[in-house]
Amino acid sequence: MGTIFFTFASIVRLSLISRQNPAMTQSFETPSAKILTGPQKALRKLGLNRPIDLALHLPMRYEDETRVVKLRDVREGDVAQIEGWVSHCDVRLGGVRQLLVTLDDGSGTCLLRFFTFYPSLQKNLAPGKSIRVRGEIKEGFAGMTMMHPVVKSATSELPKSLTPIYPSVAGLPQAYLRRAILGGLERADLDNAIPDEILNKNALQRLWPLREALLFLHYPVPDVALATLEDRSHPAWQRLKAEELLAQQISQLQSRRGRASRQAPMLAQAGVTRLALAQQLLKQLPFALTRAQTRVVDEIAQDLARCVPMHRLLQGDVGAGKTVVAALAATMCIDANRQCALMAPTEILATQHFAKLVSWLAPLGICTAWLTGKQKAKERREMLALIASGQAHLVVGTHALITENVTFRQLALVIIDEQHRFGVAQRLALRSKLQDGQEPHLLMMTATPIPRTLAMSYYADLDVSTIDELPAGRIPIVTKLIHESRRDEVVARIRVQIAQGRQIYWVCPLIEESEALDLTNATQIHEKLSAALPGVMVGLLHSRMPSVEKKAVMDLFFAGQMGVLVSTTVIEVGVDVPNASLMVIEHAERFGLSQLHQLRGRVGRGAAASACVLLYSSGDAPRLGQAARERLKAMLESGDGFEIARRDLEIRGPGEFMGSRQSGDAMLRFADVVEDIAWLDWARQLAPVLLDQYPLLAQQHVQRWLGGKAEFLKA
Ligand code: ADP
Ligand code: MG
Repeated sequence: MGTIFFTFASIVRLSLISRQNPAMTQSFETPSAKILTGPQKALRKLGLNRPIDLALHLPMRYEDETRVVKLRDVREGDVAQIEGWVSHCDVRLGGVRQLLVTLDDGSGTCLLRFFTFYPSLQKNLAPGKSIRVRGEIKEGFAGMTMMHPVVKSATSELPKSLTPIYPSVAGLPQAYLRRAILGGLERADLDNAIPDEILNKNALQRLWPLREALLFLHYPVPDVALATLEDRSHPAWQRLKAEELLAQQISQLQSRRGRASRQAPMLAQAGVTRLALAQQLLKQLPFALTRAQTRVVDEIAQDLARCVPMHRLLQGDVGAGKTVVAALAATMCIDANRQCALMAPTEILATQHFAKLVSWLAPLGICTAWLTGKQKAKERREMLALIASGQAHLVVGTHALITENVTFRQLALVIIDEQHRFGVAQRLALRSKLQDGQEPHLLMMTATPIPRTLAMSYYADLDVSTIDELPAGRIPIVTKLIHESRRDEVVARIRVQIAQGRQIYWVCPLIEESEALDLTNATQIHEKLSAALPGVMVGLLHSRMPSVEKKAVMDLFFAGQMGVLVSTTVIEVGVDVPNASLMVIEHAERFGLSQLHQLRGRVGRGAAASACVLLYSSGDAPRLGQAARERLKAMLESGDGFEIARRDLEIRGPGEFMGSRQSGDAMLRFADVVEDIAWLDWARQLAPVLLDQYPLLAQQHVQRWLGGKAEFLKA
């Protein structure tokens, strides 16, 4: 290991600065009873509450204020720090009022321009004053120039380390943040940690001590190769990544072990074949299960036959047939005389699941209840009674299902569709529905797959089942990229499809900042299409519509009466209208890749050849941005959800990829599950050792890194 560049003493000089204002230092620990100042609120907003949170808030880049260079050595575009004396200082009044200062450093002169300035600055820049300035060099008429450089007195000591620039928010000046972080570093308990000998046992490289690593990253020596800080390959970074992954793995393992010690109802004896209801359902389906479906059903059956709560993610591409797997799981539960609940993220989706499941299960004598937030009071009361008495074997609904006043008689299995659209808090609420000390089994379904290796190693407390095969006979969807100027051709295509009795989706992007703009766009398209397609029913669905109207529109579309559906919202992820054969996506360049793939999956569900048209516009720019082009290219080149997920990961990077899936969950800040897979392996092996031999240290480690988020991560 290299020399340890920083000891604590060496930053005492820096910390003295913060001591000059004791009120300021203390204020970082303000109890919540006190009124918070703007910057304190901003710190909270960034989640910087504990000293350790501050210590772990690392710079996004650095500025080098350690060196002074000569004017003769600088070039246009350099950001340089120059020291010299003022030879001229004038306020120019003609034209734009400005302060013009000439700085002479013996090797050359530089003109400093200030458009806003106070008398105090003018005083500090009086002729003869020695100053140090930092700014970008421009070459102009007047020779070398700096606009609004940072000015300091030349007598102030040069810093010994690079100046950190931290990620911040409005109302939180860098200077304040720097002092806060320095205070955090002093107070954070960095010593009561897992001994370095243990960490180093199977480490890829010798780990720097945590304190050294942190001090280095906050205040690096000027001669560090900045590239190694930027790409995080520097040993100091390696230490932080290793620590973070270790915390994540310990927490996952804790949650797995916690689960293993809890009880769940044992639902099936062995496999599907012994179960009467599942058998009956299979017999009555108009299709045979794919091999992949059979495999995942078996995996689920095995989990349900154990008295440990299941925690399984069922992933499969859009249209892979997850619903029937859910139905089979439900029958296993009902066969054991227990209740099953199925939650969907939206009302429309829940309605659709309800209709489908009733059509499959009612003939088997299974009673299905229905629960949403928007239900009439009387109906809701009836449903609640059915659920409480146990007469309802299955309950389908939205998150209304987990509100407190829903009492189940013997809930044993919870299925969550489109799991990524539910918050962790909701999942936790579900788990709290304990009965006789037993918690329900949990099956989560998603059409946005996580690449398998990632799922297995990162989510150590999640078992994953994958449907990697589509039902036979599906005709691949043809994807076309068409410039928006050629939309007439698209309308002509629609006419042909309508003439064949098919239905069409036309989706407009949701612009988060401006719902109004959104609506205008969709309304205009709706009007134009209505005019261009006389005799065809064209519907409009947008996020601001009351849910009764939404339902009315969707019903017309489900029933096949409506030919074209224009929608601003992503048409409820998961809707199944097999007769729809064309999906048009307006401003496709604005959608995320997995979202595009999800939308495309709304067609191609029936026997008809289907197509997806990606209408794109480069707006005012001459061409599309790089990421947008890559997304559209991936859509053209692949129809496979797993391949799409892989490309998405490539384009966006895992942080964002995972972040968007599990919004709200704590994500890795420093490590990258793909790039740092070796550290992930190391952490996975070390986690059980630590939990067994050093349970307290392991717990402290998780607390340090995840704080209050640890509970959430376990959900
Ligand atoms: P997703 O996985 O996207 O939720 P669905 O469960 O909605 O997919 O299934 C898509 C369509 O395929 C549905 O109409 C469903 O009935 C049908 N389906 C499911 N499994 C099979 C199968 N093995 N063979 C043929 N069709 C199937
Ligand atoms: Mg589905």
